[in-house]
Amino acid sequence: MKRYSVFAIAREAMRYHMGWERAWASPEPKPAYDAIIVGAGGHGLATAYYLGKNFGITNVAILEKGWLGGGNTGRNTTIIRSNYLQDPSAAIYEKSRSLYETLSQDLNYNVMFSPRGVMMLAQTHHEVRGYLRTQHANALQGVATEFITPQRVKELCPILNIDGPRYPVLGALWQARGGTGRHDAVAWGYARACSAMGMHIIQNCEVKGVRSENGQVTGVDTTKGFISTKKLGMVVAGHSGQLAEMAGFRLPIEAVALQALVSEPIKPCMDVVVMANTVHGYMSQSDKGEMVIGGGTDGFNNYTQRGSFHHIEETLRALVETFPIISRLKMLRQWGGIVDMTGDRSPLISKTPLGNCFINCGWGTGGFKAIPGSGWAMAELMAKGEPGPLAEAFNMWRFKDGQFIDESVAAGVAH
Ligand SMILES: Cc1cc2nc3c(=O)[nH]c(=O)nc-3n(C[C@H](O)[C@H](O)[C@H](O)COP(=O)(O)OP(=O)(O)OC[C@H]3O[C@@H](n4cnc5c(N)ncnc54)[C@H](O)[C@@H]3O)c2cc1C
Repeated sequence: MKRYSVFAIAREAMRYHMGWERAWASPEPKPAYDAIIVGAGGHGLATAYYLGKNFGITNVAILEKGWLGGGNTGRNTTIIRSNYLQDPSAAIYEKSRSLYETLSQDLNYNVMFSPRGVMMLAQTHHEVRGYLRTQHANALQGVATEFITPQRVKELCPILNIDGPRYPVLGALWQARGGTGRHDAVAWGYARACSAMGMHIIQNCEVKGVRSENGQVTGVDTTKGFISTKKLGMVVAGHSGQLAEMAGFRLPIEAVALQALVSEPIKPCMDVVVMANTVHGYMSQSDKGEMVIGGGTDGFNNYTQRGSFHHIEETLRALVETFPIISRLKMLRQWGGIVDMTGDRSPLISKTPLGNCFINCGWGTGGFKAIPGSGWAMAELMAKGEPGPLAEAFNMWRFKDGQFIDESVAAGVAH
């Protein structure tokens, strides 16, 4: 694989850009692989990448029923932060955030990580207490966050109305090294690096069944035929319940649509990410100038993968209250993704009742930020057959044992 560099751009500019290679290969599947990952979203691709990079396992296929990055990875609002409350969450999200810091160099692909700072507004006294608690927990966990005053909020984000009609801003939990990244680029960068290691990314290849013998996985039936494998990683977000059913077990998980929208592009007016969880809306500005706006989840389980009108109204009502200057903005696009929600709003990175079949899901409304860390932990689990310290607490039996990792406040729908 040719390295991307300023010299490569200059060289290609001289020859009308005719010398660029395809970023990843599109091979037909082989009959067998050492490991198969189902789902070429960010988490599946990152798992494959760290299997190769950290454990030298490269005879790997990543099977994707649509196009790579076409699930939630290409549909999210790209917020990256690690200010969670519980120790296992802070550990994996901070690992992930720290991997994002150097991901562009690591993958030789610009993922546009922009640590512009993320603030979560406190608009009730209850929220103030909650975020102070998170700030203290983060201090013990080594995650750099601080609780800032309304005046500092206004300095950092002048377009914000801190004297809101219903809920004045009482402060905010601020993570200066949180921010955003380019979602497609994260998927594309990992895909290119996996392909360069000789892994096979097979798009338009849906897994329809999981085969096993004596309690061990032996392969998968796909729309491109049977493919055998010794290790299977299921990384399909909102479709995890369906894959689990194919493998003969049930997951403590629900699938639900989550929505977002973007406005027409405008001049730069906001260089931080703001989340207003009481009124429920969050917003950042993309490099193109569009205001990127996150909405809520549907109140019922579904696989629709599209937006709906009542969310536009609810979300924009909340945001106009928080940012009055957007009241005359035109909205350009709206979409939805199918997110995978567990009862404690924490993920599963786990062995399963089927031998050598592993699951990574449950990232729900907030897994874009977790892609590098989750891939790192899942690769360790698949390579060694046992979870490492990052994944240990996220096993699927915690619901049976009552060992919840409750992030319902940090991860309900806020990202
Ligand atoms: C509107 C919205 C906004 C969000 N905002 C944020 C945010 O700001 N910050 C944040 O951290 N997170 C956010 N998220 C959550 C984040 O997008 C997800 O947690 C994350 O992208 C999940 O990645 P994944 O790789 O697990 O899943 P996906 O990207 O969904 O990938 C799973 C893949 O599996 C494939 N698949 C499914 N079934 C099969 C099968 N049978 N065979 C083969 N392939 C199959 C799918 O086609 C899909 O491509 C948001 C999500 C949405 C929908």
